Amino acid sequence: MSRRKSTAAAQDEILMLIGSGRARSRRELADALDLSPSTVSQHVQALLTDGRLVEGESGESSGGRRPRELRLTDRDEYLGAIDLGGAHARIGLVRRGAGIVATREIAVDLGEGAPGVIGSVATALAALAADSAGAGRLVGAGISLPGPVDVDRGTVESPSRMPGWQGHDIGRLLENATGVPGVVENDANAMALGEHFARTERAEHSVTVKAGTAIGAGIVVRGTVYHGAGGVAGDITHTRVSAAGETPCSCGNLGCLETVASGAALVRLLREQGYAVSTTADVLAHVRDADPVATTLARTAGRHLGEVLCAVVNFFNPGAVYLGGALATLEPFVSAIRSQLYAGSHPMMTRSLVIEPALLGADASLTGVVRMLDESLFRLGR
Ligand SMILES: [Zn+2]
Repeated sequence: MSRRKSTAAAQDEILMLIGSGRARSRRELADALDLSPSTVSQHVQALLTDGRLVEGESGESSGGRRPRELRLTDRDEYLGAIDLGGAHARIGLVRRGAGIVATREIAVDLGEGAPGVIGSVATALAALAADSAGAGRLVGAGISLPGPVDVDRGTVESPSRMPGWQGHDIGRLLENATGVPGVVENDANAMALGEHFARTERAEHSVTVKAGTAIGAGIVVRGTVYHGAGGVAGDITHTRVSAAGETPCSCGNLGCLETVASGAALVRLLREQGYAVSTTADVLAHVRDADPVATTLARTAGRHLGEVLCAVVNFFNPGAVYLGGALATLEPFVSAIRSQLYAGSHPMMTRSLVIEPALLGADASLTGVVRMLDESLFRLGR
């Protein structure tokens, strides 16, 4: 069964799989590489002996790692990750082979255009590295964007929330601004990748929904983001739902899911009821205060999203659905999605389906971006 590989090639692949977190143990390496356990053990032993890999001691608990987990030898190299949102960018600095060491948020105005915003976040990343990386050096930077991304070209496509960004090579802008290799991904896809690998028990295929001011979703198939033919797979927000009637959507269409189930929709619906709200955070505050109108609206929004997710689950049969984004911190919203999924999916789909809140919170997209970046650097031989 086992394919023959040169020792060097197999060891490089092992370092890539461990470094990116795709594999954590000899068993996971054997599965990923289609090599026999004894061959994997020989390679791992060689890498442990020459100091390129280390193995957690039994009982070690620091950093949340499980005992006996393989990892790269801690290097004095850092990766930068940027999660660009509608009004803020979250910036993370990650020590390669370790984890996130520092994060910072800055305000951004997407209307400033791609070169200006990328320049600002690169400056903030450089400042964060100067404050937190000591003598270490930055070796890569990645960014997640709140719009559809062509990952091969590094561009953002038809971004309704990002006027003036169309056609810009964001990857190139980021590389020029930081001086290191870069990757670009859609924010929901990055979050999906982060969440997919965040658990001890990993699903083979998962869907992660990001329900915040807007709604997005990412699909991970066998550990890889599924982008679809046009790079917009998972973009469920513009699915037409009958409950939305003819409500105009930001995309120019009528009756999209976004107009009844997003944070922006809840702001609009609450304002129609006379509430002085202007942001998703205002809506969250009312639901947390158990305001009955806001609570009912959140539950109804969850039901609409759950209805669309039923079709996704019945079609795709994922092992897990992870619910992230600000709205997924609201119990009425999440339980409405959950009951909709159980009521509206075939029992064979839900029998072993895991439906869980996202684990990584505000760092989910950063974590996914770092994983992509690490793999891309290994491919570049760095
Ligand atoms: Zn729409």
